[in-house]
Amino acid sequence: QSYLANPKRYDTMTYKRSGKSGVLLPAISLGLWHNFGFVDNIQNAREVLRCAFDLGITHFDLANNYGPPYGSAEENFGTIFKNDFKNYRDEMFIATKAGYDMWPGPYGNLGSRKYLISSLDQSLKRMNLDYVDIFYHHRPDPDTPLEETMGALADIVRQGKALYVGISNYQPAETQRAAELLREYNVPFILHQARYSMLDRWVEDGLLDTLEDNGVGCITFSPLAQGMLTDKYLNGIPKDSRAAKDLTYLNTETVNENIEKIKKLAEIAESRGQKLSQMAIAWILRQKQVASVLIGASSANQLKENVKALDNLEFTEEELKRIEEVLS
Ligand code: NDP
Repeated sequence: QSYLANPKRYDTMTYKRSGKSGVLLPAISLGLWHNFGFVDNIQNAREVLRCAFDLGITHFDLANNYGPPYGSAEENFGTIFKNDFKNYRDEMFIATKAGYDMWPGPYGNLGSRKYLISSLDQSLKRMNLDYVDIFYHHRPDPDTPLEETMGALADIVRQGKALYVGISNYQPAETQRAAELLREYNVPFILHQARYSMLDRWVEDGLLDTLEDNGVGCITFSPLAQGMLTDKYLNGIPKDSRAAKDLTYLNTETVNENIEKIKKLAEIAESRGQKLSQMAIAWILRQKQVASVLIGASSANQLKENVKALDNLEFTEEELKRIEEVLS
């Protein structure tokens, strides 16, 4: 194995408990949605993963369809894992998911038992893993009985293919029902993965309370609103940015709609002695139900900048009020 991890990697990272479980997660975790596919540079992907682990980031979030193309983020992760991280497997908490479009035909999407179980088998092969630490149902499926989907998660745990389970993008009422079923099935349901940033606060409207009632942790994604809540777009749209690539919901139009708010938020961050990215992450970690904030990074430098958010997590009442005024 060619990579030796930084011996001081656990000295500075903060670890938080996921709900009422035994699992501690780094306050900041790394997601592989973008920047890890076959379209991306694998040497850079490798550098970002090594940098993350050296900073004490133990949690890595994947899904069957991350890439592009679908499956390629898992495959690249698997290659890097085999070369660099195999000896560190027990220090890593690795996630994957199924729920969105993955392969053609009626069994490659949504929430059937057929889809979830075969998808996870494929994911394990691509990642060179015997099991994942957590497997999620990626989004609710209105047409499959919840008993079937949750039953599949339960069997996946019983088969030893995942240690814990989670759900993502479920509304509060659906989350409550899922929690009840998983309790009945005796399966450790420890995380709900939800979008949350200063520009999208839907989780504050019931979801965080539901999770707390059920002892489930929240892991939040797109804390930087895919890069908008950083210095990246303050002076226009860089050519190599995610908005310029227009791959997802982030495009020049969205940036232009939000730019006035972003500029004001950047001023508040500066008055706190922080970058906007760091303030955006700290602002999410102020919620006690949040076990971890899932960030994306296209370079090791972005990752280093973002992890420095942990140097200042406190907000004064005055600062919170100023932020609310900008967001309202
Ligand atoms: P972020 O909001 O953290 O956006 C990350 C992007 O922002 C980077 O790729 C980079 O884009 C830019 N960026 C990050 N840091 C900086 C910085 N310091 N300065 C300037 N630009 C920066 O999160 P993501 O939207 O990437 O989501 C994070 C993870 O959450 C995903 O990888 C995935 O694991 C998970 N997720 C889960 C979903 C679900 O349905 N469960 C849905 C979406 C995400 P650029 O390329 O422009 O440099």
